[in-house]
Amino acid sequence: MTNLHANLEMVRGTIADAAARSGRSASDVMLVAVSKTRPAELVAEAANLGVEAFGENRVQEAESKVPRVRELLGRHATWHLVGTLQRNKVKGAIDLFAILESVDSLRLAKAISQRVFGRSVPILFEVYVGGDPSRPGFRPTQLLEQAPSLLALPNLDVRGLMTVAPLGSSADQARAAFRAVHQLRDDLQERHPDTNWSQLSMGMSEDYAVAIEEGATSVRVGRAIFGERA
Ligand SMILES: *Cc1c(COP(=O)(O)O)cnc(C)c1O
Repeated sequence: MTNLHANLEMVRGTIADAAARSGRSASDVMLVAVSKTRPAELVAEAANLGVEAFGENRVQEAESKVPRVRELLGRHATWHLVGTLQRNKVKGAIDLFAILESVDSLRLAKAISQRVFGRSVPILFEVYVGGDPSRPGFRPTQLLEQAPSLLALPNLDVRGLMTVAPLGSSADQARAAFRAVHQLRDDLQERHPDTNWSQLSMGMSEDYAVAIEEGATSVRVGRAIFGERA
């Protein structure tokens, strides 16, 4: 038994309200249901309730879940990688995910670029704007510096930025982080106009409404949909 249906209604309502406050419609904001640690059966149920995109943070977990969900649904769902990607898992990730949201270094971007053949892989650059040196993600100045090298890599289809607000942020601190990432995106768009930087993946269960108010084009929501993780 889950409250999946009620939770989804609540999340969709919150998205619509926040989108309206930012002068947009709910359809301008993509919901990515983060299904890490959740069984394939529950993911399939969410897909049958209209969720189109799912987020996973581990390639290994996705390797069994993606085909299982496909079997249960009888069709393909769209999968986003939202967690740290080890370079030795790049090949598997490219095969499983429609977009890699967590490209957090030039080294990783190079590794992806070298392992793609005959197409380009949609990616977001993960950015971190807090003070914790152990958190993954490009620092804003680093991304501005490295953007020319990153954009010169073949086979990468850069779509924009992803961020996770600093751990333990208040709503105001999260808002400041999202605003900074939005500003960084605008700077990148101005400096590198041949790339379409339109996607901003910002906001999780705690802060997705604030993220939408600050311009998120997609939100990554896990617990508010599926309940607390074990
Ligand atoms: C787990 C996770 C989420 C979802 O977090 P919830 O608190 O469950 O909504 C979003 N983004 C990333 C990168 C995650 O690892």
